[in-house]
Amino acid sequence: MNAFTTVAEFRSALRTWLDDHDLSPGPDHSLDAQVAQLGRVRRELYDAGWMRYGWPAEVGGLAGPAVFRAVLGEEVATRGLAEPGIYSMVEVLTPTMISYARPELAAEMVPLLLGGREQWCQGFSEPGSGSDLASLTTRAVPHGDTWEISGQKVWTSLAQYATRCVLLTRTAPGHDGITAFFVDMDTPGITVRPLRTMHGVDEFAEVFFDDVVVPADRMLGRPGDGWRLAMDLLPHERSTCFWHRIAHLYTRLDRLLDETDERNETDDAALGAAYLALHTVRCRSHATQRRLAEGARLGPETSVDKVLLATAEQQLFDTVRDLLPGVLELTDTPWRSEYLYAKAATIYGGTAEIQRNIIARRLLDLGRE
Ligand SMILES: Cc1cc2nc3c(=O)[nH]c(=O)nc-3n(C[C@H](O)[C@H](O)[C@H](O)COP(=O)(O)OP(=O)(O)OC[C@H]3O[C@@H](n4cnc5c(N)ncnc54)[C@H](O)[C@@H]3O)c2cc1C
Repeated sequence: MNAFTTVAEFRSALRTWLDDHDLSPGPDHSLDAQVAQLGRVRRELYDAGWMRYGWPAEVGGLAGPAVFRAVLGEEVATRGLAEPGIYSMVEVLTPTMISYARPELAAEMVPLLLGGREQWCQGFSEPGSGSDLASLTTRAVPHGDTWEISGQKVWTSLAQYATRCVLLTRTAPGHDGITAFFVDMDTPGITVRPLRTMHGVDEFAEVFFDDVVVPADRMLGRPGDGWRLAMDLLPHERSTCFWHRIAHLYTRLDRLLDETDERNETDDAALGAAYLALHTVRCRSHATQRRLAEGARLGPETSVDKVLLATAEQQLFDTVRDLLPGVLELTDTPWRSEYLYAKAATIYGGTAEIQRNIIARRLLDLGRE
């Protein structure tokens, strides 16, 4: 595999490879098929080296700037090779493993995720702890060189497909009493019950932990590091994984332009506003990618990316609803499922209200209320 010196070189070689290797999904759009397709795409891209660029050699990467990952995600999304939401998991969980897992554990596990051999999940939210994540109560108690975990998580995306879980637990009171573990999902005592979203897909699940025994060397960081881990992970969930989501949304804007043209339903102002919202978040995301490439540590400023993404996504699908009458309400088209899923954009990764609170308090220093 070549060592690429510029992004343009990387993109051009990647495009040639993708032109020569057909990774298109089949006709089955079920979640089972999407997850299988995601595994296939990652596996092929990893085995050919592409999925390894932008990650450090210590976890099986081929080094190079993080922006190579963004370019890869953009090409995958633009070509419709993998569903962008579930593709994001790599961008969210891998940086955490690199920063917090023992080096041997990260070296063993990360290639399994990047290489599509495994799917992982993120066990943060609980029935009483979503926005107020620090109130979580899933308990971990030490027993020699193991910990025993009991409690419940909810809205855990893809838990029914996951081999491992990045799990937040309570080991003592307060923010400093939260501890993270990397848990094998086939450990006795774990029960996964899928939940159906309003777009008709069992995308997330309730996960129950009953006296689940986890080795102490599966702790991520040290006891009490869980809150810091969450504060490092969430900025990735609120920013870097959006570059490829935006690329996906541009494909939907193009489709909308084609369909409004065919129907003669064009409304230049509405289409222009949808384009502007998308372009705004793309500019913001570009700046975030650049900061990441320069080695910046991402933090609360990523709440701006999250608000802009959710706004642009919902505006785009609202424009679909307005300009293609009946396409959501009367027929079971892919538009309907994407329109409904867009509603989740102001909830997952922290709600729109919470992002605005962070912007007001942490970026604008406006005080608590
Ligand atoms: C598609 C999807 C996938 C998800 N995947 C995962 C996953 O893989 N892992 C995981 O751990 N979680 C996941 N979640 C859960 C997500 O993180 C939570 O839904 C989110 O953090 C909100 O928490 P909640 O649902 O408990 O709502 P609540 O916190 O109960 O909030 C309810 C409402 O109150 C508002 N609110 C709450 N507090 C304040 C405040 N202080 N100021 C102003 N308004 C406030 C909220 O904005 C919201 O409108 C997912 C959610 C969705 C929709």
